[in-house]
Amino acid sequence: MNRLHTLDVKYIKGIGPARAELLAAECEIRTAADLVRYYPTHYVDRSTVRTIRSISDEETYVQIQGRFVTLNIVGEGAKMRLVGLFSDGTGTMEVVWFKRIKSLAKQYLPGVEYIIFGKPGSFNGHRQMTHPEVDLPGTMHATEGLRGVYPLTEKLRNRGITSRSFDGWIQTVLNGPAIQETLSVSVLERNHLPGLHTALSTIHRPEDKTALDAARLRLKFEELFFIQLDIQRRARKRKMSMDGFRFRRIGSWFNSFYSRCLPFELTDAQKRVIKEIRADVNTGRQMNRLVQGDVGSGKTLVALMAMLMAVDNGYQACLMAPTEILATQHYETISKMTAAIGLNVALLKGSTRKAERERIHTGLADGSIHLLVGTHAVLEEPVSFRNLGMAVIDEQHRFGVAQRARLWLKNSIPPHVLVMTATPIPRTLAMTVYGDLDVSVIDTLPPGRKPVNTVLRYDNQRLQVYKALYKQIQQGRQAYIVYPLIDENEKLDLRSLTEGYEAVREMFPKLKVAFVHGRMKAAEKDYQMQLFVSGEAQIMVATTVIEVGVNVPNASVMIIENAERFGLSQLHQLRGRVGRGADQSYCVLMSRHNISAETRKRLEIMTSTTDGFVVAEADMQMRGPGDIEGTMQSGLPFRLRIASLASDGQIIQLARASAEALLDSDSDLHRPENAATERELRRQINRQADWSRIS
Ligand code: ADP
Ligand code: MG
Repeated sequence: MNRLHTLDVKYIKGIGPARAELLAAECEIRTAADLVRYYPTHYVDRSTVRTIRSISDEETYVQIQGRFVTLNIVGEGAKMRLVGLFSDGTGTMEVVWFKRIKSLAKQYLPGVEYIIFGKPGSFNGHRQMTHPEVDLPGTMHATEGLRGVYPLTEKLRNRGITSRSFDGWIQTVLNGPAIQETLSVSVLERNHLPGLHTALSTIHRPEDKTALDAARLRLKFEELFFIQLDIQRRARKRKMSMDGFRFRRIGSWFNSFYSRCLPFELTDAQKRVIKEIRADVNTGRQMNRLVQGDVGSGKTLVALMAMLMAVDNGYQACLMAPTEILATQHYETISKMTAAIGLNVALLKGSTRKAERERIHTGLADGSIHLLVGTHAVLEEPVSFRNLGMAVIDEQHRFGVAQRARLWLKNSIPPHVLVMTATPIPRTLAMTVYGDLDVSVIDTLPPGRKPVNTVLRYDNQRLQVYKALYKQIQQGRQAYIVYPLIDENEKLDLRSLTEGYEAVREMFPKLKVAFVHGRMKAAEKDYQMQLFVSGEAQIMVATTVIEVGVNVPNASVMIIENAERFGLSQLHQLRGRVGRGADQSYCVLMSRHNISAETRKRLEIMTSTTDGFVVAEADMQMRGPGDIEGTMQSGLPFRLRIASLASDGQIIQLARASAEALLDSDSDLHRPENAATERELRRQINRQADWSRIS
């Protein structure tokens, strides 16, 4: 495939510099290799010709054979369009083009027999098709079996680029010299996979369904295989090198915390995970462990006890959180919990004042600060520890792999790394997604928790919802009302948030209402958060900045406005903010009345279960906004084009096993039969490095 990686698409027949620029901007296609890896998203069967009478609006793509009865340019200026009346003897259909009107008007003639191909719809009650492909019967394109449909953007369409354009360009490449294989013969044979050139030819122009399935399997396997190879090679290297701090003992910090400060008994799951961490840090190798536990399972405490192990052995520890709110909260919880044993804890955020910052820098450098809690600010240059022994990253998915690695640069020997996440994904998947991390699971919640009572309500029931909310507040409880703010720059969302805030204040004039969103200044955010944490404010109106980690056990009501706009895992996270005490809590999903069946089904998952794994599974299958797949993919070393983490679990297993076997027999990929695989791996790593420099 080497030659293709250096062949700029502008040199491919029919593309040229202008289109090449567009392809780069719209589809990240720059080289011939990128082009042949641009796969069809689905296929249409061009061997069947349909009748106008038999088709319905719900169908995706159909082809029809007939003639234009009329074909005219209608309207003027921006409204100009080419409109044809197409008849096949069973009925008529309007065919419309909004672009390239004049050239198409010359090209297509009334009375001539054509096959048109496109997505049927209707307009003003009349059957219609916009921008179909038009062929003469008997030509190569018409009625040729399975045809790939390529993802096209608005801009591509406007420039007259169609699925057929892609087909033509890709065929030009595939008809050139054979594309070099990336997998070794033994890997291909072991998994019964077709070769790369065959697979690519087939995926773009499948002869039949069986061949297509084999080609798709091969290409998915290949993607997942290189990811596994990269991950496992790094894991092996790390395991071989002995450079990790050895925490030989559990000492007085840990023990006196355990006996004097712990307000409750640890759950069995917490105990087990603490033991796993204890075993890791005693090996002399660096720990890289992921702790997975549903919201409210008590990860913070596990992290704190792991950090005390470091302190007991003369090292410092740090805990990084993705938001200032969360960092502040962790700081407060930990300071309070360890007050009796006199641990020196500091908080470093982007908004920390200069004098305080300098004091912290000094304390870190001379070792007097035992434990630092912070945000990304911790990663910044002047922060230097005397001896950082343990780094904990909370809610990992907000931090990239690259940031994780930067932590290690703070020491010559890297600190032990503990990553905590509430994204509940199956263990095998976690191993793929979180790279070379070992995985621990906190699979039970602290005792006495009652499942959050979750209901779906519509906008016209808001008054009732507010009444129920007020009742809880009269009983001394607190409530969150959350608004979607998908993009913090979206003015519209901000308006709906402030309007919501005003409405709530009007509704409850006697109550104190706190108000937090992501565009607020840090000090203001802290102040508002404090109002709620201290119990002074009974209601907190907020955006999803409170989504991760915030812990106010007295809060018993979570109202989520426009719940239909959230992804399932996000809803689950939000719901996790309540139900943290022993009393019954409530989560109300507010939605427009008029939502699709799919959306309703999604929301009903939430009302039917509080199990994070069930929610995650459904999320993966249903793929709502902000789905888990996206979150998971952001943890991968290379990007996926065709494989899916959610639905290709079996192929992941195959790829994993093959990568393991390969590294067992040739750990450095030095054997000649693995040269192509080694080259491809190196290429993908370099490419990834280029990308991360850009972004
Ligand atoms: P998460 O796993 O979502 O980060 P937290 O660490 O914030 O959860 O813990 C949620 C709540 O449960 C906190 O109020 C914490 O004090 C409490 N908690 C943690 N462990 C236990 C336990 N073993 N028994 C009772 N409560 C616990
Ligand atoms: Mg947490």
